[in-house]
Amino acid sequence: MARSISYVTGAQLVSLKRRPNIAIIDVRDDERSYDGHIAGSLHYASGNFYEKISNLVQDCKGKDTLVFHCVLSQVRGPSCARKFANYLEEVKEDTGIKDILILERGFSGWESSGRPVCHCTSVPCKGETGSA
Ligand SMILES: [Zn+2]
Repeated sequence: MARSISYVTGAQLVSLKRRPNIAIIDVRDDERSYDGHIAGSLHYASGNFYEKISNLVQDCKGKDTLVFHCVLSQVRGPSCARKFANYLEEVKEDTGIKDILILERGFSGWESSGRPVCHCTSVPCKGETGSA
């Protein structure tokens, strides 16, 4: 059974982010280092996404909802979300991941609606910057 991938809006993501069992996956490439990022998001660049995919599964242990995004979530975000869904089907491992989502309008939409952007350089991002 193919997994369905749906879209969430920035507003929906804000409320989803309050739950502990969600992971946000940023698949932008170099842009992450100079444009900032959504606090708490993991970085898995689309350029070598497939090579790192088993690390991502490890990173998402205990999460049941994954939200992928790139700059606009038009090309890289959806394609990585699809690769990830296909991978889960191939390995048939019980990861506990139930929902694979894509952030509508991507990081660009997130930032332009005035939502908080984290500029830390920690890997992984430690989360909220404190200024809400
Ligand atoms: Zn950060």
